[in-house]
Amino acid sequence: MSALPSSHVDAGRLQRRFEALSAIGATAAGGVDRQALSAADAQAQALLIGWGSARGFTAAHDAAGNLFLRRTGTHPLEPVVMSGSHLDSQPTGGRYDGAYGVLAALEALEAMEDAQLACSRSIELVAWMNEEGSRFAPGMMGSAVLAGVRTLAQTLCVADVRGVTVESALRALKQTLPALADRPFSAPIHAYVEAHIEQGPVLERLGIPLGVVTAIQGKHTFRVDVHGEAAHAGTAPRSQRRDALLAATAMVQALSAALEDDRDEVKFTVGRFTVTPNAPSVVPRHVSFSIDLRHPDTELLRALSARVAPICEAMRGSCEVSVERLVAADAVAFDAGVRERIHAAATHLDVQILDMPSLAGHDAGIVSRIAPAGMIFIPCREGITHHEEESAQMPHMVDGTRVLADVLYTLAR
Ligand SMILES: [Zn+2]
Repeated sequence: MSALPSSHVDAGRLQRRFEALSAIGATAAGGVDRQALSAADAQAQALLIGWGSARGFTAAHDAAGNLFLRRTGTHPLEPVVMSGSHLDSQPTGGRYDGAYGVLAALEALEAMEDAQLACSRSIELVAWMNEEGSRFAPGMMGSAVLAGVRTLAQTLCVADVRGVTVESALRALKQTLPALADRPFSAPIHAYVEAHIEQGPVLERLGIPLGVVTAIQGKHTFRVDVHGEAAHAGTAPRSQRRDALLAATAMVQALSAALEDDRDEVKFTVGRFTVTPNAPSVVPRHVSFSIDLRHPDTELLRALSARVAPICEAMRGSCEVSVERLVAADAVAFDAGVRERIHAAATHLDVQILDMPSLAGHDAGIVSRIAPAGMIFIPCREGITHHEEESAQMPHMVDGTRVLADVLYTLAR
């Protein structure tokens, strides 16, 4: 049997790097504030570049601010194997979201160096620019430009609340870093694998250390407007009322009942509900509410989505209703071949692994548009995420890294 890099994954090194990275942008409550293209983001990138350069990996930025560390293969013109995640966080984010996937990829590359395992293909670590979308919206900006989902020009002109654009923040960030080579967007990708915390409670509850992500759930959103008529709360008889609130709440109840499933896979949320005039003694004349509907299966999501307007129409009573669909993002199914490799690597290492959908969006979902992609999940405590109390266990981080290292190696060998 040939040697694999997993046996050279160094838990102590991973732990030390995790602690060093967590110190950058650290908050008093134990999380991190490392928003995209901030001073803390630049510091984190500098740390990563230093670690990679010490092992002979080549650092480069592309024009969207994605950072790459390349371990060059013996056939450098072959499409690369890529792995990574993001260094940016929410303003009161956790230490693991994104950071884990970047450090797991670095450790995998270092394990290959330590094991002196040459690969045919180059392997690139990537830290995507602005995954979180908190300072600059929307998120997953860097991967979206690389995958051709958004243009570079569209991205560079986005401004934060202070009016600072991505373009100027990126320029400032690059000035703080050692001069890096600029790389083009066009480099073909043989496969992309991202390790990440689950950001949900499933693995922890089942006591399973790893997940292989089958799909990222799709999301459809709506705005519903219910129009009735304002009237005096004391004098208007029931037969003459056109109460927009009663109609709207009936719609919400009917939608919730119709869309619920035994497996708890459909996610239906009415997060905003606005009543006009919102006065105690006036029958409401207008209600506007939001619908956020998610499911990992595109066909089923579309079928559920198609039921929203008819249900609202059926429950409108004497009011008028309009339903506008705002977002229709289909689910993303990950590549069967990459999933199979993740399974095989986990089985070979005797680590239990569960097939599961991702309920949150990830750069891997964007990259899957242009290359075979996959994800490895590790458990996180109580599914708490985008929160300073986010937590994962080092043995799980090591398991995920060992599987990642072998998957990357077999893809690049
Ligand atoms: Zn993330």
